[in-house]
Amino acid sequence: QAKQAGRNTFRFFTPAMDARAQARSRLADELAGALEGEEFHLVFQPLVDLKTGEVTAAETLLRWHNRYLGVVSPEQFVPLAEELGLIRPIGEWLLMAACHEALRWQSLGLGDIGVAVNISPRQFQQGDILQIIERALSESGLEPRLLTIEITEGLLLTNSEEVIAKLESIRALGVTLSVDDFGTGYSSLSYLKTLPVDVLKIDRSFIADMLDNLDDATLVDAIIAMGHSMRLEVVAEGIETEDQLVYLAEHGCNSGQGYHFSPPLSPGRFRDFVLSRSSSNASSPSQVFDSC
Ligand code: C2E
Ligand code: MG
Ligand code: MG
Ligand code: MG
Repeated sequence: QAKQAGRNTFRFFTPAMDARAQARSRLADELAGALEGEEFHLVFQPLVDLKTGEVTAAETLLRWHNRYLGVVSPEQFVPLAEELGLIRPIGEWLLMAACHEALRWQSLGLGDIGVAVNISPRQFQQGDILQIIERALSESGLEPRLLTIEITEGLLLTNSEEVIAKLESIRALGVTLSVDDFGTGYSSLSYLKTLPVDVLKIDRSFIADMLDNLDDATLVDAIIAMGHSMRLEVVAEGIETEDQLVYLAEHGCNSGQGYHFSPPLSPGRFRDFVLSRSSSNASSPSQVFDSC
């Protein structure tokens, strides 16, 4: 068993403790009971093939709804969960739930819809992520090719042999590896060639500015071209407008995700989205560039 930093954390309170620390400590107390209290749920955001307009996959995004705190953003609670040693059980639950949902899409006949799950660098480096992924696949019965693990560029930059070996064993299961928020780190594109990854997901900050900022457009073009020369699939995140979609499609970007297609949806609404989308495509292939 890996050491779980922070598992035996304790806090003590003094009158001088400031409001921010108190708020954080409150957040931590509530977070500790959140999994058991079934306060987490998953939403799914469609990934669309930019050539055909079909939904090919969904990214699983975690939501925490607490009765006192309301809806808390993953950007706030994931780092805290990591510090408190809670990310492992949360991640385990999430992987299992995501695989089960993807299996359901298959049994409902929605087609080969893949599912992507975010794994933070700390989560990845904490112990037995490989076993957790293996178990989620075998217990759900989901085909490994339908699961994508999203890691960040920062993880690759640690350049540790241990990380690379782990990525290789995850990929050996048949799982797809995607580099999330790509372009925000400092990896040289050629360095990627040596890494066991399959997909580059261009960070939404570049997509947001590429039509007004020549530097961003140049970078997006370069990522697409280099990605393809390395046989990687290129995905754009944060597509919000038709113009962005057209630009990316014309420049050969493979798939996209963003509010232009759909925000993250509840499981039920995601299934409806796929159904409505595949029937409208069947009747009119020219609807590729329609928003939802
Ligand atoms: P991410 O993996 O880059 O996820 C994409 C984020 O962009 C999501 O925010 C999504 O709702 C948002 N987004 C999608 N389309 C658009 C768009 O068109 N415009 C804009 N402005 N935003 C868009 P969310 O769900 O708040 O997640 C934020 C981050 O939290 C994620 O970034 C990911 O790093 C992390 N996260 C979310 N769920 C999990 C999880 O289950 N595990 C871990 N480790 N991290 C997670
Ligand atoms: Mg992601
Ligand atoms: Mg992302
Ligand atoms: Mg992002």
